[in-house]
Amino acid sequence: MDLIQFQRLFDKEPGYRLEQAKKALFHDLIQNWQTAKTLPLSLREELNKKWPIEIPAKTFISKDRNTTKALLTLKDDLKIETVLMRHKPRSRASSLQGRDKRNTICVSSQVGCPLNCSFCATGKMGFERNLEVWEIVEQVLFFARYLKKIKEKVTNIVFMGMGEPFLNYQNVLGAIRILNDKEGFNLGARHFSISTVGIVEGIEKLAKEKLQINLAISLHAPNDELRSKLMPINKKYPIKKILNAVDDYIKKTRRRVMFEYIMIKNVNDSEEHAKTLVRLMKKPLYFVNLISYNFTGIFKSSPASRIKKFKEILEKEGVTVTQRYRFGEGIEAACGQLVAKDGRK
Ligand code: SF4
Repeated sequence: MDLIQFQRLFDKEPGYRLEQAKKALFHDLIQNWQTAKTLPLSLREELNKKWPIEIPAKTFISKDRNTTKALLTLKDDLKIETVLMRHKPRSRASSLQGRDKRNTICVSSQVGCPLNCSFCATGKMGFERNLEVWEIVEQVLFFARYLKKIKEKVTNIVFMGMGEPFLNYQNVLGAIRILNDKEGFNLGARHFSISTVGIVEGIEKLAKEKLQINLAISLHAPNDELRSKLMPINKKYPIKKILNAVDDYIKKTRRRVMFEYIMIKNVNDSEEHAKTLVRLMKKPLYFVNLISYNFTGIFKSSPASRIKKFKEILEKEGVTVTQRYRFGEGIEAACGQLVAKDGRK
C-alpha cells in the first residue's frame, strides 16, 4: 500500500474528496473508513475494500505506565516493534498548565537490522527488509489513535527503533514528508529526529534537504578500536569520517547534533574514555546524550556513580551533556532491546 495508490482511488471523485479523506485519516484518526461520515457510503465501502486502515497490533505496557510497546503485524506477516514514551511534566506547575507533556514515538525503519552492533538485540535477529513509507507512517498513526482515546497527541517522532534509518533513506524521508505535511499528519519538522550509526552518505543527503529535522549519531565509543568491536560498521565509517560529515552538516544547516553514548559497564565508561570523548566533542553545536545501557544478554549497565563521574568529566571540560531517562524496562522496549518476538511480556 502506498499513498499514490490511495490517491488514485480518488481519480474519479470531485477534488475535495481526497482532502476530506486525508482529514479523516490524519486529523480525525479514524480506525475504519466506515466512520468517515463526510464521505459517501459507496466510497467508504470501496476504501475499506481497497485501502483498509486497521493496524493489527498487540500492546505491552510497562509497570510505571510511561512506556507502551506495540508489536505490529505487516502484510507479509513479519512483525515490527514501535514504542510510545510518555514523558512526565518536569514540575507540578507545568503539569497543571499541560506544558512539558511529551509523547514520543520511537519508530522502526527496517524489519531487523543488517548492522549487528554487539550490544543490540535487533542486530541479533538479522535483516529481513526495509519498511515501506506507509508502514512507517502506520506506526505513528497507531499511537496517535491510541493517545486520542486519552485526549493526548503525538508530540515527537524519533527514528531510533529497529533498523538503520539511512539504509532506508528514501522511505524514511517519504514518511517524514507525509507526517510533516499540513494536509497529512501536520507535525512540525523540529519534532522529528533521525538517529544513525553514521552512514556518511545519509548525513550528506540530509544536509541538503529543506527540512529542519534533528540528527543524532550513535557514537558509543571514543576511539575506533573499541567502536569497531561494538559496531562493526565503524570499519566502513570510522569516527573521523563521521565527524567530518557532521561538521559539514552543521556548516550547512546550523543545527545542533546529538551524540548518543550508551554507558556499558567496564567497556566504555572509564575516566580515560571520558577524557578521549572530550577531545572529540568539544565543538560548538555538538552535545552528548548519555544513555543507561539496557540489558540484552551480553553487557551490563554502568552503575549510576560511574555515569555521574563520566558526566562530570565532560561537563568540566565544557562539553554539553544530557542524560536520558530509562524507558521501557520490563517490556523489552528500551533502546537496543527491540526484537519483534511475539507474545513476550
Ligand atoms: S543499534 Fe541500531 S544500527 Fe546497531 S544493530 Fe541495533 S538497530 Fe542496527
